[in-house]
Amino acid sequence: MTALADDRISQALAEGSLLTVDGLDLRVKVSGRRKRFALTVESDAGLTLHAPAGRPAREAEEFVRAHRTWVVTKLAVRERTLPLTPAKRLVDGEVFRYLGRTYRLAVVDDEADGSRVRLIAGRLVMSREQAEAPDRARAALVDWYCRAGQNWAVGRLQPWAARMGVAEPELDVCDLGRRWGRYRPGQSEYGPGRMSLGWPLFQLPMHLVDYVVAHELAHVRVPGHRADFWRLLGQALPEYAERRAELDELGRRMWMGEIA
Ligand SMILES: [Zn+2]
Repeated sequence: MTALADDRISQALAEGSLLTVDGLDLRVKVSGRRKRFALTVESDAGLTLHAPAGRPAREAEEFVRAHRTWVVTKLAVRERTLPLTPAKRLVDGEVFRYLGRTYRLAVVDDEADGSRVRLIAGRLVMSREQAEAPDRARAALVDWYCRAGQNWAVGRLQPWAARMGVAEPELDVCDLGRRWGRYRPGQSEYGPGRMSLGWPLFQLPMHLVDYVVAHELAHVRVPGHRADFWRLLGQALPEYAERRAELDELGRRMWMGEIA
């Protein structure tokens, strides 16, 4: 080993630096509160090494080597579940999904309300002017999913909340990135919390949207995903494990807003 390399591995890890260990590239996150090393595989299959402050690269490398089998297994799983989301073209006949059904896009020359996408006679209608401006067209399609999804999901809250014996939260449908849903408790003990659902969710069949609604409602009572969370969800939805697996499989094929 050269003196230079030896010097490098005895230096403390720097926040944000990149570490390569036996062909694995890791982003380094240093935290003063952390006592031990830890590894995470991110949703884009990137690797992060969480390190306590002031620890040398040599220790980090030993840690990564000791956990190599775990990392390789995790990476393989991540690769299998990476999104396979094709981009959409803004042309007549392009297929969009809503609650498991398919609807074809109609690009029209004259549209009275040209700023909005609308569902008319089984077709998603968009003005030509809009279809030629991809950013605006995307925003208009997302806006349509948000409005349609909100109208549908608001009616699903009450029956599921009643079945679980939890208070009905506020609801919004918005862009949550790759997340299907999120629950945030209210500010006060008495105020309702807020459930947010990601607009791409509404492409999926109703029973999978229901799974996400029930899942987020279970968080009204139980934060996190420990055994008591799954017990509560299982009481309301005994087939939750099958639905969750189906959501993982079908979900990665959904459109996430990319325009070709
Ligand atoms: Zn959850």
